[in-house]
Amino acid sequence: MKYLTAATRLLRHSSRNLFDRRFNLKAFGSIRPSSSGKFQNNGIGTHHRNLASTALIPERNKSFATINSDDISYFKKVLGGRGVVQDEEKLDDANTDWMRKYKGSSKLMLQPRSTQEVSQILDYCNSRCLAVVPQGGNTGLVGGSIPVHDEVIINIGSMNNILSFDKVSGILVCEAGCILENLISFLDNEGYIMPLDLGAKGSCQIGGNVSTNAGGLRLLRYGSLHGSVLGSEGSLGIVTKVSILTPPKLSSVNLAFLACEDYLSCQKILLEAKRKLGEILSAFEFLDINAMDLVLKHIDGLRDPLPSSKHNFYVLIETTGSMESHDKEKLEAFLVQAIESELLTDGVVAQDINQASSFWRIREGVPEALLKEGATYKYDLSLPPEKMYDLVEEMRGRLGTTSNVVAYGHLGDGNLHLNISTQQYDDSILAKIEPFVYEWTSKQRGSISAEHGIGLMKASKIHYSKSAETVQVMAAIKKVLDPNGILNPYKVLPTSVLSQSGRHQPNKD
Ligand code: FAD
Repeated sequence: MKYLTAATRLLRHSSRNLFDRRFNLKAFGSIRPSSSGKFQNNGIGTHHRNLASTALIPERNKSFATINSDDISYFKKVLGGRGVVQDEEKLDDANTDWMRKYKGSSKLMLQPRSTQEVSQILDYCNSRCLAVVPQGGNTGLVGGSIPVHDEVIINIGSMNNILSFDKVSGILVCEAGCILENLISFLDNEGYIMPLDLGAKGSCQIGGNVSTNAGGLRLLRYGSLHGSVLGSEGSLGIVTKVSILTPPKLSSVNLAFLACEDYLSCQKILLEAKRKLGEILSAFEFLDINAMDLVLKHIDGLRDPLPSSKHNFYVLIETTGSMESHDKEKLEAFLVQAIESELLTDGVVAQDINQASSFWRIREGVPEALLKEGATYKYDLSLPPEKMYDLVEEMRGRLGTTSNVVAYGHLGDGNLHLNISTQQYDDSILAKIEPFVYEWTSKQRGSISAEHGIGLMKASKIHYSKSAETVQVMAAIKKVLDPNGILNPYKVLPTSVLSQSGRHQPNKD
């Protein structure tokens, strides 16, 4: 009787309601069209916000040279005039990160077109002790992709050719500057998919993805890029070419947008999804009501898929398989059981690709919505799923009404995106967040960087996740590969550790 009541309530909520057993769970072929185009924060505002705290920016390393006219002549000889950018407007974009939180003052951006050109540039910069920052799509969220001071920007975007694709093995070889979304579209035509997908796909580049070891929406199914490539965020070298094993595109894809009353139910649903959907489960994402409200407020053209009432939590479950009838049957049985056990309060299954895209847009639109709302303190944490939301609630308790604490993320991977949204950056708010957030994570033996990398933002915080010995080994590796420390200085490792290892003395050999 209890089950029947729950099911009736859900049926009333939506005409496309997935719990209506008369409804055919219709699959759609390809999960998301290439609709987003180049992902830019157009219309978000052109002013630059101040840094969260200027005190966090390391001083310029005086051992680095500054650019002179001979350097410019040399680069023009190697790259031609087109590959040497000194235009102020273009430099302004390249000096500013996606969140408009960090801003460098580089006067030069180089756009090489081949591995050989990258190599010649690096060789020259090393001999002159000119610091460089490798840059892909500049969608990184930890201040890794922009210069901190006047480093030369090496932008890889002109190296954007697909070099080969083997239809039997699924091996794609491409240049590092290929935009992720272009690779997704290319593979779609070949009957394959990228094992990686993320909200910034319209701008981020595969070289940047590899360098940050990006996670994204399909990590649950296809695992981390870490399995085949070790990311170094541009601090050990520049990626110019990537060879990646891609899985075949499967014909049956379903996406359910579901609502839960409490966080415990989200966890139970995850556990059940892993058990009951097993091999067809391809994504499990969550957002809380604060994230949902922001998306609906700021992202044009989005509608609440479950409009009849507000819910505390929303979950997206995607399945991908090869046998439509089997997949539908599995998903339907899983959902019916979830509603009967009152884990779900409402939900819908996408009926076509457009609906699926709009569901995904809700989840993927959260960073953009936060950007439009104001300043954001953004944390990307790896935590045991059962502990994740405790941190969110504790943070709300600490901050009271001064800020909006927004949570979403890749629940299936134990990856929480904790965002503290305020009108403007304010050191007194920051003091309530840090170091608390890092200490809390460390106590749970979590990681302060789940997938976004360390960048500039967390270089001095690395000890919360790595032992002193590990950090020393990382510094020693850096010293061997980059003796003058010109590659992406001030990022990933604390400057204090690097100066101890003697990195900052220019190599005269
Ligand atoms: P950039 O931002 O240009 O650079 C990032 C870092 O990599 C820098 O340290 C840079 O120096 C280095 N780098 C770039 N290219 C190279 C190269 N060729 N060789 C060596 N070093 C290089 N990240 C996730 O992991 N999962 C997500 O789900 C996710 N969602 C996002 C959603 C939005 C809306 C946004 C804005 C960002 C999101 N991100 C996510 C963060 C970001 O998109 C990823 O870190 C992405 O991999 C960065 O790629 P990029 O080409 O933009 O690199």
